[in-house]
Amino acid sequence: MSSQKVINAPLDSAITPFRKKLNSTLTKKPITVLQINLGKRCNLSCRHCHVEASPKRTEELSPEVCHQLIELIHRFPQIQIVDLTGGAPEMLYGFEPIVEAARVKGKQVIVRSNLTIYYEKGFGHIPEYCARHQLRIVASLPCYLADNVDKMRGIGVYNASIHALQWLNRLGYGRDPNLVLDLVYNPQIPSSDNFALTPNQEILERDYKEFLYKHFDISFNNLFAITNLPLGRTKFHLKHKKLYKPYLHFLESHFNSSTVEHLMCRNELSIDYLGNVYDCDFNQMANLPAKTRNGETLTVAKLLEAGTLDLIDEIRTAPYCYGCTAGCGSSCGGSLV
Ligand code: SF4
Ligand code: SF4
Repeated sequence: MSSQKVINAPLDSAITPFRKKLNSTLTKKPITVLQINLGKRCNLSCRHCHVEASPKRTEELSPEVCHQLIELIHRFPQIQIVDLTGGAPEMLYGFEPIVEAARVKGKQVIVRSNLTIYYEKGFGHIPEYCARHQLRIVASLPCYLADNVDKMRGIGVYNASIHALQWLNRLGYGRDPNLVLDLVYNPQIPSSDNFALTPNQEILERDYKEFLYKHFDISFNNLFAITNLPLGRTKFHLKHKKLYKPYLHFLESHFNSSTVEHLMCRNELSIDYLGNVYDCDFNQMANLPAKTRNGETLTVAKLLEAGTLDLIDEIRTAPYCYGCTAGCGSSCGGSLV
């Protein structure tokens, strides 16, 4: 693994409100990305999960909200990307109908996969299904070494992920230009105040590619390095270790203003399984709904009624936004600058 820069956390004082740090409001641009969180059920229950997903969770999309989302996708040509997440999106209600509705309209569809779902009963068809519909697969592999992955995600997850990647390669993923396969790196959750920024994405991608090709003959397209935001299980862990505030200070102390222009919340809407609208998946998990210029919250039904997606002027922010703006920045598509 590439060496990471280790920096000690600053002293425990107040966190600067994110908005004050920006010295302005964070404004929305025209919406081009619809990220849909189909629910909280997952076959895994990873230590770092900001969704707090697990096999025991039951929350998922309803047929009614699924129908509204399909209408939204059909009605708004400005939506270029439909990004499906969860939980494990492949096992949640609405996955296939939404994929097919979006692909018929020529949208790029991203599925955020944990890879191991392909080995659960009833989901063995998913790799072929994804290839047939030319879905872009963004797969979690928080490290290219087995120990680190199994520690974060559960025993056996690394081996299953390697087999799944080989399966995807055999279908043409990572090799055919129409079958894009990206991997996601997450750092280990800090256990002491020797925090580290996410390593340089380009160098890490090169290391991943060399290792996975040499040992397993695996190819993929891009590596996305994503910072752990202090939310969900990561927040719980940090609080338990009394590291929550020091970690926020660490992130704040590495604030990089050049990331702000590229933040993923600028041009996306994040939708939860009930059809509520947020500025991003992190705000969704923090229960911080998006607000219109009139101060109203939104649902998919309200967007359909209004006939526009561009009702939000100001993005709602919170201290965890420092996770997206530290160092090279972070988003669902990796580093920002
Ligand atoms: S991090 Fe992803 S794979 Fe792990 S429990 Fe959460 S949703 Fe599931
Ligand atoms: S958490 Fe990140 S993506 Fe979400 S509103 Fe804050 S800066 Fe934007």
